[in-house]
Amino acid sequence: MTTILNGKELSQTLRAEIAQQVAEFIQNTGVTPCLAAILVGDDPASQVYVRNKEKACAAVGMKSQLFRLPAETTEAELLELVARLNADDSVHGILCQLPLPKQISEKVILDAVSPDKDVDAFHPANVGLILQGRPRFLPCTPFGIQEMLKRYEIETAGKHVVVLGRSDIVGKPMAAMMVQRGLGADSTVTVCHSRTKDLAAVTRLADILIVAIGKPKFVTAEMVKDGAVVVDVGINRTDDGLVGDVDFDAVQGKTSAITPVPGGVGPLTITMLLGNTLKAAQDAVEKR
Ligand code: NAP
Repeated sequence: MTTILNGKELSQTLRAEIAQQVAEFIQNTGVTPCLAAILVGDDPASQVYVRNKEKACAAVGMKSQLFRLPAETTEAELLELVARLNADDSVHGILCQLPLPKQISEKVILDAVSPDKDVDAFHPANVGLILQGRPRFLPCTPFGIQEMLKRYEIETAGKHVVVLGRSDIVGKPMAAMMVQRGLGADSTVTVCHSRTKDLAAVTRLADILIVAIGKPKFVTAEMVKDGAVVVDVGINRTDDGLVGDVDFDAVQGKTSAITPVPGGVGPLTITMLLGNTLKAAQDAVEKR
């Protein structure tokens, strides 16, 4: 029997828990967690993402502020805004929606966000803390995947986790998290990428296969071991609609558990952003 890992449902449960924690936090401290979102330019997908993040904040009782800047904004102007938000005690999380226009270096901007407000966990200081197993924040997509594995009580200790994709946003932090000691981790981890030889032979070793490569239906049944858990991070817009990186129909029968696309990993990402913003506010109050 295959379990469909329902990220939509889990997300609703987690958001209800976060809303409860936010209400208690406000009652105890008088502080409302606040996420500042920066949107540069008019990329339609980015506009939708930012709007969804604002709505999600409101739904759990948090504040959000949106800073819309024109596409021709300079790096210096954006750095100035980031510095202002870093210094603003009423702002707990700062999110700079990617991609940025080409005249602005993403690295320069992400490095400028205060690590204490870096709720995406992209700052090198936060990446280092993850690697050392003492995270301040966890990056939202891998965080959501790990939470899903825990909540569905999928054993990870001693399991072979194969991560397909080595992006800074998903693949690399996912691997770094799964190799740590503790619940939802303690795994033996292999990371694959476009230079991996005989990819299918490696992915077939996976007890848990986590796929984030951005190639529609790339993972076929031959690449999956019987009884494996398959987590599909891919979001690909095709003529057939939204599809993942895994050929769901072909693969699901071989798996013990699998995430659908849509409705799997996707909904959890914003939810974990909410959790990180609450944590940023809690940490800020503790430091006062
Ligand atoms: P990315 O930056 O696009 O990088 C893709 C990775 O896949 C690279 O490491 C690349 O290898 C590897 N790759 C590409 N083709 C390959 C192949 N044929 N064989 C083996 N490896 C291959 O990745 P990303 O930002 O993590 O995004 C991946 C997917 O996840 C996209 O569909 C994206 O939309 C989706 N995504 C979803 C969420 C969510 O909330 N659900 C969040 C983030 C991303 P090289 O490094 O060797 O080039």
